[in-house]
Amino acid sequence: MADSFDVAIVGGGINGAGVAQAAAAAGHRVLLLEQTALAHGTSSRSSKLIHGGLRYLETAQFPLVRESLRERALLLRLAPDLVRLVPFHIPIYRTTRRRAWQVRAGLALYALLGGGARENRFSKVPRAEWGDLDGIDTKDLQAVFRYYDGQTDDAALTRAVVRSAQSLGAELAMPGRFESATLDDDGCEVNFLESARPRSCRARILINAAGPWVNRVAARVSPSPPGVDIDLVRGTHLLVRGGPRRGIWYLESPGDGRAVFAMPRGEHTLVGTTEAIYEGDPNSVAPPDTERDYLCGILRHYFPAWRGTPPELISAYAGLRVLPRSDGRAFDRPRESIFAVDRGDRPRILSIYGGKLTTWRATAAKVMQQIAGSLPQRDAKAKTDELPLVPD
Ligand SMILES: Cc1cc2nc3c(=O)[nH]c(=O)nc-3n(C[C@H](O)[C@H](O)[C@H](O)COP(=O)(O)OP(=O)(O)OC[C@H]3O[C@@H](n4cnc5c(N)ncnc54)[C@H](O)[C@@H]3O)c2cc1C
Repeated sequence: MADSFDVAIVGGGINGAGVAQAAAAAGHRVLLLEQTALAHGTSSRSSKLIHGGLRYLETAQFPLVRESLRERALLLRLAPDLVRLVPFHIPIYRTTRRRAWQVRAGLALYALLGGGARENRFSKVPRAEWGDLDGIDTKDLQAVFRYYDGQTDDAALTRAVVRSAQSLGAELAMPGRFESATLDDDGCEVNFLESARPRSCRARILINAAGPWVNRVAARVSPSPPGVDIDLVRGTHLLVRGGPRRGIWYLESPGDGRAVFAMPRGEHTLVGTTEAIYEGDPNSVAPPDTERDYLCGILRHYFPAWRGTPPELISAYAGLRVLPRSDGRAFDRPRESIFAVDRGDRPRILSIYGGKLTTWRATAAKVMQQIAGSLPQRDAKAKTDELPLVPD
């Protein structure tokens, strides 16, 4: 392995993978450090949706939704074996908080933000077809809307992006644990453990894409770089036996009105997610019983078949969102990624906070713009909006 790079990246989640691909495509010498395994963090514990995020319309995050829908369209083209369009169903009952006219208006706006493409069409499912809809409770059901969004395997997508970066020359050190960095006039000196052996290298810029570990990594950089005050928000998913087959159900939690998805996954159903502030070690995050009960309760509320026989749990996992700290509900906080740099021109470190799986490529493109002044001129090898991604 070389001992001098243009870009050194900490974190082999989707964001680190995306920056590795973008920097390598721009012709730069790239090192990606991942302490455990690719997508070991949040990028294997998401809801696995490549989506605009219909619910983000409620918090007026229009630019994010537009960007996400653009990226979805691109990924459907570049990664057809990893991202597929699936039907989503939204049931409206007499007691549902989001009324039919609101959902219709939201879907119309969603389609508009998506640029009127075919995949943005939506419709009302005729009453005569409700009997075919996965056994959803039809008592007091007033309407069912159908629209389309993307579904993926988040970890496989992350691995595909890293492979693409490697094919453009990026080097991967795994297990490669970032230990410390010292910033100087020309960039930084990076110390890490590669398969437990101490190593060091130089880089023009360090990208901190450590997800929930972002401020732990930043704390090991001297002089201390600027950061963002964050909350880690735990989201639980359960995989239960059987369940809906016709598409994804977009359900309103009867207790608190949050949106929860019930998603076919092979022969099973993935249901999630929850949102609770988490203060422990990111390595130890696990789904608590209360969140298992909450999610099972939602399945039983909407699917009478699960009222007699409770859902049989196959597995459960929890992931951590990185959200800017505030007093508001996690559900209402912005989902855009935020960058922290140590200086405006020629930064030596850039930390990525938050973001979405869907927007990894757009995020990486923005990172490249922000760090352009720190990097030498190189001959570009490819454009990331033209690089196909294939599963392993
Ligand atoms: C419950 C939940 C559901 C979600 N659902 C969706 C969804 O359906 N669609 C969507 O678009 N987005 C979704 N998201 C958001 C999305 O999953 C995340 O924004 C994204 O995965 C974050 O990726 P990341 O690369 O920043 O972080 P991570 O995936 O956490 O990657 C960080 C990596 O850094 C590594 N690392 C940490 N410290 C070090 C070190 N010292 N040295 C080397 N490596 C280190 C870790 O091992 C890890 O692999 C969801 C998030 C959550 C929590």
